[in-house]
This record gives sequence, structure tokens and C-alpha cells, in this order.
Amino acid sequence: MGKSPAYPRFVNAALPVPVDRTFTYNVPPELRESISVGARISVPFGKRKLVGYALSFPEEAPAGLDTKDISAVIDQPPLLSGPILELAVWMSEYYVQPMGIVLKAVLPASIKGAGRKKSGDELAERFPVEPERPELNPDQAQVFDAVVKSIGERRADRFLLAGVTGSGKTEVYLRCIEEVLAAGRSAIVLVPEIALIPQSTSRFQRRFGGDVSVLHSRLTGPQRSTIWKRAASGEVRVIIGPRSAVFVPVRDLGIIVVDEEQDSSFKQEEKPHYSAIKAAEFRSRNENAVLLLGSATPSLESWYESSRGGIMGFRLNDRPTGGGMPKVEVVDMRGKEGLFSEELLSAVEDCVDRNEQGIILINRRGHANYVRCRSCGWIARCPHCSISLTYHSRGNKLVCHYCAHTEAPPGRCPRCGEFGVIQKGAGTQRVEMELENLVPSARVLRMDLDTTTGKTGHLDLLESFGRGEADILMGTQMVAKGHHFPDVTLVGILSADDGLNFPDFRAAERTFQLLSQASGRTGRGKKGGRVVIQAFAPDHFIYDYIQAHDFDGFATTEIDLRRQLGYPPVTSLMLFTLSSRSMTSAAEMSEKVMEALAASGVVDGEDILGPTPALIEKLRGNYRFHVLVRGEIGLADRQDLAAAARKAMIGAKGVDIQWNVDPVNLF
Ligand code: ADP
Ligand code: ZN
Ligand code: ZN
Repeated sequence: MGKSPAYPRFVNAALPVPVDRTFTYNVPPELRESISVGARISVPFGKRKLVGYALSFPEEAPAGLDTKDISAVIDQPPLLSGPILELAVWMSEYYVQPMGIVLKAVLPASIKGAGRKKSGDELAERFPVEPERPELNPDQAQVFDAVVKSIGERRADRFLLAGVTGSGKTEVYLRCIEEVLAAGRSAIVLVPEIALIPQSTSRFQRRFGGDVSVLHSRLTGPQRSTIWKRAASGEVRVIIGPRSAVFVPVRDLGIIVVDEEQDSSFKQEEKPHYSAIKAAEFRSRNENAVLLLGSATPSLESWYESSRGGIMGFRLNDRPTGGGMPKVEVVDMRGKEGLFSEELLSAVEDCVDRNEQGIILINRRGHANYVRCRSCGWIARCPHCSISLTYHSRGNKLVCHYCAHTEAPPGRCPRCGEFGVIQKGAGTQRVEMELENLVPSARVLRMDLDTTTGKTGHLDLLESFGRGEADILMGTQMVAKGHHFPDVTLVGILSADDGLNFPDFRAAERTFQLLSQASGRTGRGKKGGRVVIQAFAPDHFIYDYIQAHDFDGFATTEIDLRRQLGYPPVTSLMLFTLSSRSMTSAAEMSEKVMEALAASGVVDGEDILGPTPALIEKLRGNYRFHVLVRGEIGLADRQDLAAAARKAMIGAKGVDIQWNVDPVNLF
């Protein structure tokens, strides 16, 4: 990034418009003193006023164009510092997105008006500094020593700390941050959106007091800007927040910690489709800071990197507070009637009788209907992609959402000959009713989108369960994450296979993560724990690894499969989504884009999948189609692919195109 000259006459500005170029404006004499690189500026754009960003100051304006004056300089000094601008430039190139769009994601939205709510700093003052500070055990000391060495030498090393919930990862983060602060440097801690709750952040605040700011979602734009400014001045040196916290311009970055790094909320699903972990990697390299990723079940991306030596892997095996891992049973549900197996029912009864608590997880991910044999558990899969086929009642057909392969649903099961294959899925409400019928003594608390309206609905329910106001907490994915409940001695999982059959190549990985997270909810107290998993495909390989609490075994097997099928982390993906009010236009343009991508010669034709209707075929009135490119596609390849797609789109009316580099959800 260039320096700001003394009295610039012209400025190249990035604007939040989907055009990959900058726009040149005049700087009127009265604004020449206050403008500098990174400053937000107000500019006329057609009939509108836009907020842009000053990127550079050319000597002259492009010839033949009538350049307009900027209207105002918004920030003085600019919010964007050198390293954050460099990060934005990197993001713009890596994700092939215009600077204006990238900067809009990077900078805290500046909503006008004073903040009414408590800022992160006011919250911090309520916590006294934590006195207890346990001695690290040998496993913790090993990773701590390695991290501290890298911090001391200002090396941009990356670490992956794998350890079940309760194994002491957070204690390691806290100690590493202590070292960073002692060296006068700063730290950023990224946590999944759902984990951004006072219970988890208060531990940092108790340890570090006023040095900590939490970027939670209730902050107003001006409050965010204030945190940015305090971080830049060094007044606040520990920032905790969701993915956008990676952009905070802390002074002299020493470490970025990412907790639960496998969580999909670290990838932004909207433009510019960035991953906070990739952004953290860039900052680590660019600012000579350590990157410490932690997880009970690492993403296969990080695990693969550590198996190849790019990341240093460490493991915490025991829970310092005692309590072993729960015993995991897998119950075969094939050919059984009803939602509950006898095993799970009697476990629930025992649990209630002993005045202990249980959690029941209904593993459902909406959207997809698949076809399964009720007798042998056979599932209809795509012969080309090894992805489960989705049933469409319109046209009565099975469709692969990766390659568009289509076939008729079989009249009888091709494996066992049973007539009548079925679609599955029972809502949480039905499960609740059935459980209350079968175990009337159980007080059941249901947690799903219906019962958790409002910002704190989900917390209120968890707190009520924590106070012992119910015996069984029942619900979707939400019940698997978050709080620690020492009295939970039972976890039941219904339809574990629903996750496995989701049409996504990460289905097994996601299911493994969810099942082990859910299992980790129990066995925390002295009373031990038990996990009962109901499965229609009990011989699927993930169950052996779940029962053995063997993540490495699972990861090794799964990576092998990914290699055979050509999926990440062994390859890369770039997903093109075309959408339009008109189904025909979306379909036609996606065909054209697919042909243009193929003609670009960047990858072989067979590595361009689709076009196919997206899994969510229609979203807010728009029909959506996907074209998926896979292979060893690097920076220049992605630029070429995007250019080819852009060219194919010239003249297209009423069709929008987006590309998503390293997509996580292929919806
Ligand atoms: P994780 O982040 O992996 O879930 P935590 O760091 O929260 O684990 O540790 C779980 C519990 O164990 C916490 O109450 C923590 O204070 C305690 N703990 C962590 N490390 C030690 C240790 N070395 N000795 C004793 N207790 C510890
Ligand atoms: Zn069958
Ligand atoms: Zn397919």
C-alpha cells in the first residue's frame, strides 16, 4: 500500500459496487490535508452518494474523463491501518472480489446514532480478576512451551490443538495470551457465533480484566468503531469475537486463537465469501504472529495440514478435572417401529429415576429428502459423486445436487428386495409428544427454532435446564453445543444417519463432529456418562471411531475417501451460483457459464460439475443453479475462471452470478 502524499489532487477509490476496478475522483483543495490511505470518503456515483475507501493517490486523472469531486472525508485518522489494508488486498485477490465489497465486510458498519446498550468494556468491569490459575499438566505445558517459543522469536507458526471439551484447551489459550500481553503485544480470539455467550467470554475477562473487549452481536456500529480505535491505540489488547473480529487492527499482533476452528460460522456465506481462518492465516504470516487453532474435532482441512507438517499438531488426552469419556452404544434401528428404541427408553427412565439429566439430539438438517430402505438401511446415492440423491416430488425423481445425475426412485430396494423405500424425518414436536407418552415421569424441555425466538430464547432455555427445571433437554443441533451441565449422564441421538445422508461431501465429517460434540455433553461429572445412538446404517465406518473416541482414525479413513473422490482438502473448489427470477434464464446462463469455464481450459472438463439446480432451488423468489469447479486451482486459476464467467455474463439480463472460493456449504 502506498503512502499518502502531502496534498493529493486525485484519489483512486474502492466503491461497494460489483465492478472489479477503482474509480478516480478529484480531491478539492480543502480536503487535501485530511485525506489519507484507508480513509472512508463520501463520493457521488451517478445520482447516488456512496461511501468509498481511499486506496491510492495517482499523479493524474485518466485522460478524457470528467472526474468529479469527492464530497467529504469521513475518518480522520483513517480506521484502516496498514496491515488491515494489506489483508483486504489479499482477500480481494484470493476470493476474486472487488475491493469495495471486501472493505465493506472488513470495516465495522457505522450506524449513526449513539449506542444505548452496554459496550463490551462496561461488561468487562463486572468481573473481578480471576484468582485461580491451575498449574499446566505435561500435555498442556508441551504445546504452551512451543507456542511461547514461537511468540518470543516472532515466528508466524501455526498450531493445532486437538482435545475433547474439558481437556484444558482454554487454559492453554489463556496462558499463551498472558505471554503475549507480557511482551506488550496483542491477541485476537475467534469463537463460533453461538459460543459468544457471557459464560465463555467471562473467563477471559476474569483473567485479563479491562484489557479485553468482546465484539458481540448486540454492539452498535459506533461501539464497534470505538473498539477498533482502542485496539489500534493499544488501549485494549485482547479482542474476542466471531469471524469479523479477525479484522480488528490490534496493536502489534502476537497471537490469533481460533476456538472450535471446525465451526462453519467462520466462513461467511455472503459476499465476499471469506473464511476467517484463512484471513487469520494471512495476518499471522503478514504480521509475524502465532496462529493457534483449537478443537475437539478439527476440520479435515486443518488436520490434513498438520498431517503434512504445515501446522504443528498437539493433543490433550485427559480431562484435568477427572471423569472419563462416556460409553457409546449404537442401536440398530432397521426394521423397528417407533421413534425410540427400547435401549434409549430404558436409559431415559433410569436417568429420570436417579434424578439425573439427559439430552436428546434429533439430528436433522432440513431441506433434503433422501430415500432409504426401511428394512436394510440402503440409501440411494449418485453413482458418480458418492453423494446421496435427493428426492423431488415434482417429477418423482432422484437428483444428484453435484452433477445433476437423475434417476427414477426404485420400486423395490436394490439391496434386499424390500418393497416401498421411504423418506424419513420426524419433527421435534412429534418426538417430544412421543417421549412424554412413553416416559410420563420425565419433564421434557424442547429446544428448536419454534421455542427459541428472540435473541436470548436459546440461553433462557439452557439456563432453565441448568437449574434442574427439566430432566430431558431435547432438540436439534443447538442442544449439542454450549454449556457444561455436570448432571447430564445420558445423551441420546435420534436418526444419526440423517446427517450422513445429507447431500454434501462433508456429511460424514459433520456427523462425526456433531456426534462427538453431543457425546461430550455427558461424562463430565463424577457420575460418568452414557451415549445411545440410534442408527439405520450402524455399520457405517464413523460409528466405530465414535465409539472408540478416535478422531485420528476417522480422519485418516475419511481423507482417503476424499482423495479417491477428488474432494477437499485434497483438492480445492470454487462454486458458481446463478440466480434469477426466471428459471429459464438462470438455467440457460448457467449452461453458458459452464461452457465458458470449460473453454477456459483451467481444469479438465470432468472437473466442472453441473450445472445443476442448487439444493435450495428457490430462494427469496430466485431460481438458483450451481456450477462447481474442482481441482488444484490456484490464485491465477481462480482469476481466470472468474474472468471467463464474467465474460459469459455480458449482456445477461436479470441474472446474478456469484462465486464462492473454498465453499463450505453447497446449498
Ligand atoms: P476446554 O477448553 O478444552 O474445554 P478448559 O480449559 O475449559 O477445557 O478446562 C476444563 C476445566 O479444567 C476448567 O474448569 C479448567 O479450569 C480446568 N483445568 C484446565 N487445566 C487444568 C489443569 N492443568 N489443572 C487443573 N484444572 C485444569
Ligand atoms: Zn433394503
Ligand atoms: Zn453426482
